[in-house]
Amino acid sequence: MGFAEYYRAFPTYTDIHSEEYRRRLEELEPLLIKYMPRRGRVLDLACGVGGFSFLLEDHGFDVVGLDVSEEMIAKAKEYARKRASKVEFIQGDAREIPFEDNTFDYVLFIDSLVHFEPLELNKVFKEVRRVLKPEGKFIIYFTDLRELLPRLKDGLVVGQEYWISKIIPDREEKTVVIEFMSEKDSFRVRFNIWGKTAVELLANLYFAQEVAEKVGNYSYFIIYRPK
Ligand code: SAM
Repeated sequence: MGFAEYYRAFPTYTDIHSEEYRRRLEELEPLLIKYMPRRGRVLDLACGVGGFSFLLEDHGFDVVGLDVSEEMIAKAKEYARKRASKVEFIQGDAREIPFEDNTFDYVLFIDSLVHFEPLELNKVFKEVRRVLKPEGKFIIYFTDLRELLPRLKDGLVVGQEYWISKIIPDREEKTVVIEFMSEKDSFRVRFNIWGKTAVELLANLYFAQEVAEKVGNYSYFIIYRPK
């Protein structure tokens, strides 16, 4: 059970040329550009294969991408080589960010909450505040799984080959195991369930909210400054 199969099955997060990945870039680009008026140093936290790092580099930012997965970082470096990109990709943990205090003008955290339990996300937020400059911004984008979950149904087609075959929330609805099935295989992934309220409560320990925009039906783009 795990994310490795999930990322192998869906190009949404792993193939920057896929329609699904490009749709995410196109959806967020206008918001990022609108709310990142000053150029500066950016940490793309849990950067995956680096599509958002490249996007910001193309807009003149100096970008570092950090991800815990060796596979994701290897793919990001491969894309960087092909594009002659100067983005620096580093394998590392968002819970212990390997940078000095007050290093970044922006920290970007996109589509990654499902990986973190509450105590872990608390560590991530604390680390983000530490590495942000006092006037820096923390930009987070996530899908409210608490809102989305009741709309997911067995049999729902996801991507080109898979459908959801089981949805098993734990008793407290902190996590959900989703089983995906195709003609050739099936696998299960456990997602941490984060809703907007819980994210805000945790973030408010370290940050003050400046902007919150709803994107589509279930996603939020929020900008924080350090407290
Ligand atoms: N932000 C990228 C994007 O939008 O394309 C990647 C999103 S992907 C859904 C979530 C990423 O979080 C994966 O690449 C995974 O390896 C990474 N991740 C999970 N736990 C992490 C941790 N503790 N530290 C850093 N990255 C982590």
